[in-house]
Amino acid sequence: MTDKKATIELGWNFDNSYTTLPKSFYSRLSPPPVHSPKLAILNESLAKSLGLNAEALQSTDAVAMLAGNEAPEGAMPIAQAYAGHQFGHFTMLGDGRALLLGEQITPSGERFDIQLKGSGRTPYSRGGDGRAALGPMLREYIISEAMHGLGIPTTRSLAVVTTGESIYRESELPGAILTRVAASHIRVGTFQFAARWCSIEDLRALADYTLQRHFPEIETEENRYLLLLKGVIKRQAELIAKWQLVGFIHGVMNTDNMAISGETIDYGPCAFMDTYDPATVFSSIDVQGRYAYGNQPYIAVWNLSRFAETLLPLLHENEAQAVKMAEDALGEFSKLYHSNWLRGMRAKLGLFNEEEQDEALIVGLLNMMKEHRADYTNTFRALTINQPEGTVLFGTSEFTEWHEQWKARLTRQPEDIEAVQQVMKNSNPAVIPRNHRVEEALEAAWKEGDNTVMERLLAVLSDPYAYTPEQVAYTTLPAESARPYQTFCGT
Ligand code: AMP
Ligand code: MG
Repeated sequence: MTDKKATIELGWNFDNSYTTLPKSFYSRLSPPPVHSPKLAILNESLAKSLGLNAEALQSTDAVAMLAGNEAPEGAMPIAQAYAGHQFGHFTMLGDGRALLLGEQITPSGERFDIQLKGSGRTPYSRGGDGRAALGPMLREYIISEAMHGLGIPTTRSLAVVTTGESIYRESELPGAILTRVAASHIRVGTFQFAARWCSIEDLRALADYTLQRHFPEIETEENRYLLLLKGVIKRQAELIAKWQLVGFIHGVMNTDNMAISGETIDYGPCAFMDTYDPATVFSSIDVQGRYAYGNQPYIAVWNLSRFAETLLPLLHENEAQAVKMAEDALGEFSKLYHSNWLRGMRAKLGLFNEEEQDEALIVGLLNMMKEHRADYTNTFRALTINQPEGTVLFGTSEFTEWHEQWKARLTRQPEDIEAVQQVMKNSNPAVIPRNHRVEEALEAAWKEGDNTVMERLLAVLSDPYAYTPEQVAYTTLPAESARPYQTFCGT
């Protein structure tokens, strides 16, 4: 099946530009075949947009490719080397359970990494088995597609296949492999690897490659490495603001999980906040709250500082000068983040023009939400559909006063109420992947082999701003007994 004809039928069109980098950046390998691969879910619309034949991808031979049993024609499988600060501690990492098949060039000329996650051991596996369990891979599929539906830059999920093999964690679990699609898998940690273990020429090669791939417009500029730093800072400021605006908590913002492209990557113990509280943490391993909701912008700038350090030798031959350039660039993050956040918050409240007091109005609402333990998504949804009722928050006199102020504020702009409602609908998702809904879908899928619950959830999440009657059932909160929710890395 790996002959040319089959590849053409499937639509694979691989390039392998990453292998033009110095050899220390990757290891060539073919993964160990798995026993009996079966398709658990396929993202047909994503397949089409990649130029793939969704129907042909369901054939036994194509599924074997998605399990890593056979490499598609033109693919040159590699595991990528990288390092990273994990919870603040620097370590050599690398793809310990992932395999980059190559880069799919789409019919419109875009380039996407096609990566198999859970495909087996690699030279970077350390003590791990290189495998993944079905539950966490389906979870990544659901949450990454939900993020895409929310309009947030993210890696995507093309498919999950089960391997027919068991893996062993605390219990015996069905093994699975996720096909992840990404603008690239270059991470802050990839630069940390280069700066720590490679020559300056190799570091420069990585920086030039990254520029070509993600910032082609500045590739030939004289100060291109400074522009690279600034570009990455800008994208992260935009990304983290988007996370905050929808209440997304990544859960494990280690530097190896921060993509240079500006996409959200590595869905492990992530979850969406329900009750508004900046201290919210779901991850069982984040005991100190390092990656709590309210800390995410600060962690982003910490990670970006680690990125800037790796670029110092490229920024200026004089180190003091290079440090100054990096510091000035990093100093922009908080301004960029804040303006993105404020713009997004204004839209969530239907504000088109700007008034000095807007931030106080926004913060006032958030403070009340925290005090009265209001659900983040549902509070904004209720304001959007003009039904602020039925919660403790909405029953307080404090809120009534705030509501009056907000209504008055809305009159101080030319836009009418329809325009206000439209911008609010476009900015406040009616549905998010609520933890109990995700769990329910996963249980049905992996314990009972019933995908229908997951498919319904995915359909609703694909257009979270639709405000349709079908969404209403997905806005209800879990029973108090289902909280507090805890997430696990899923490795
Ligand atoms: P993550 O938490 O998914 O970002 O992974 C952190 C590091 O651990 C990466 O280098 C992974 O490739 C590696 N890793 C995670 N799970 C496994 C596993 N089961 N086997 C080998 N390496 C793993
Ligand atoms: Mg990772």
